[in-house]
Amino acid sequence: MTKKQKKILIRIIIAAVLLLFLHFVPSTGNWITDLCLALVPYLVIGWDIVFNAFKKIFKGRLFDEEFLMTIATAGAFIVGDYPEATLVMLFYQVGELFQSIAVGKSRKSIADMMDICPETAVVIRDGEEETVDPFEVETGEILLVRPGEKIPIDGTVIEGMTSINMSALTGESLPVEKGVGDSVFSGSINLTNVIKMQTTAAYEDSTVSKILELVENSTDKKAKTEKFITKFSRIYTPCVVILAILIILVCSLFSDMGIKKSIYRGLIFLVVSCPCALVVSVPLSFFGGIGAASRRGILIKGSNHMETLSKVDTVVFDKTGTITKGNFAVDAIHPREVSADELIDIAALAESRSNHPVAESIVEAHGKHIATDRLGEVSEIAGKGIKAVIDGKTYYVGNGKLMEEVGADYHECHLPGTVVHVSTGNLYLGHIVINDEIKADSIEAIKRIKQSGVKKTVMLTGDNLKVAQKVAETVGVDSFVAGLLPDKKVSELEKILEKGKVVAFVGDGINDAPVLTRADIGIAMGALGSDAAIEAADIVLMNDSLGSIPSALKIARKTLRIVKENIVFSLAVKIGILILGALGLVGMRIAIFGDVGVLVLAILNSVRAMRVPR
Ligand code: ADP
Ligand code: MG
Repeated sequence: MTKKQKKILIRIIIAAVLLLFLHFVPSTGNWITDLCLALVPYLVIGWDIVFNAFKKIFKGRLFDEEFLMTIATAGAFIVGDYPEATLVMLFYQVGELFQSIAVGKSRKSIADMMDICPETAVVIRDGEEETVDPFEVETGEILLVRPGEKIPIDGTVIEGMTSINMSALTGESLPVEKGVGDSVFSGSINLTNVIKMQTTAAYEDSTVSKILELVENSTDKKAKTEKFITKFSRIYTPCVVILAILIILVCSLFSDMGIKKSIYRGLIFLVVSCPCALVVSVPLSFFGGIGAASRRGILIKGSNHMETLSKVDTVVFDKTGTITKGNFAVDAIHPREVSADELIDIAALAESRSNHPVAESIVEAHGKHIATDRLGEVSEIAGKGIKAVIDGKTYYVGNGKLMEEVGADYHECHLPGTVVHVSTGNLYLGHIVINDEIKADSIEAIKRIKQSGVKKTVMLTGDNLKVAQKVAETVGVDSFVAGLLPDKKVSELEKILEKGKVVAFVGDGINDAPVLTRADIGIAMGALGSDAAIEAADIVLMNDSLGSIPSALKIARKTLRIVKENIVFSLAVKIGILILGALGLVGMRIAIFGDVGVLVLAILNSVRAMRVPR
């Protein structure tokens, strides 16, 4: 509990004891003394609310909770029911206390998961170890990270070999081995050995800072439901105030209730009118859901995306790097005009600057030193391949479409797989056949996505028909489209959107940013280290596994269910009390008790959203 919460608790206890005490003290017979005595517990519990209400009246902000509480309790004093006034304030403060504990707790749970912020970094300057604030470390400096410490900044290992726990980033609890040359990400924890690393970014641009920024900003983007509630309460509260006045007028003029009883009925109306259970519990549920997701390495950029995700009925996947590993092995080299070694040399050189999975795999398969000084201008032709100048000659490396474009006399290969053709100008030099592997959990994940109620799964790919068909059949997507250039992927997606589907697109962020943006929900995976993906997507999966998607769907649906439960439940109870109050069937005490009760239950229900489903 914070200091402020403790103070409120103490005031609640004191006021309750005083109230009980006064209950047994007989009236002094003098109304001024009686009133003064009754004011003591009232002010103990409610002075700040009355004070704030007056402050707001002068600022012209009427009709908020504090204003309502003040009027209602002042009314209770006027009709002479002193304990009632104190009780109302007391219940109200209990509700407030509860709410502040719950909000604090959910903030803390994100902060806990976000316990990824390194406080210090040990930097080696002039051979000396120096402990500094991570903000002070520059790109390219050497850091020392001991076992048990957090990696403070993104970088590359230059000395040592260790296990790293990345669970705070990806939700994956198995440690990963990292050695010289491997990249490590800020926020992960070094488990076993001392390592030296060279930073590749400043702290502000490191993974930790990006994640924090993303989660912190996520509450700014309000879901439709949330916006509705805010608008609703703005209209609803004044309406109830007017109704309350009407009730007082009608009862006192047209019945024999007398002015005192009439005011009392109007007051009940006022007290329960504040829609605090909704205003508090709805954002709290979203916040909890976002927190639960982030602890599984699923970063949802706003409540609005959470709401859309819960309605998704079609999931569209990119193939390379999303369903498959994007880690191609070379199966065959079929040269013409040149030797096999020369062919792969040219291909690797041309691909050396690209981050496309095909490019990275060819460079890796080549395995030898790449003489980049031979390389001139390089340009990437999205969805087709690469154009590169090597030793002053122009080469093309890519798929059949690229060969057609340059007029090379290429031929398809009889072997299954992705074929990378090479030509210089229009002279065909042969091809390399590479094959990708399907990720271990893709099949299971797609099955679970379908089970979770998603009606259709589609795979889009720029790869050839043969490969696409095989992958689609193996993982069990409902349909697929092959041979698509990146802009054609957008139009395929638009065709699905036109049918009125709510579509999520899952990609790896490499040349599919336009599709990620166009879909109702763009999900980028393997975001560790890829800025483009984090930028373009609405939901960012820190790990590389499609298995996060059914979890994300589950969390989103659960959160929205909780939100709806809260809305229906609090409105029902509230309207019930309003009607009973207007008919004079419940007193103010019951009314306010019911009101606080609804608030507490709604908050408790929201807290459920924070729990991470297994
Ligand atoms: P996917 O839709 O499977 O993610 P892309 O749209 O990224 O595929 O690429 C489509 C096809 O274009 C690849 O299968 C490959 O044949 C070719 N291609 C794209 N980039 C390159 C590259 N850098 N080198 C060679 N071929 C490439
Ligand atoms: Mg791709």
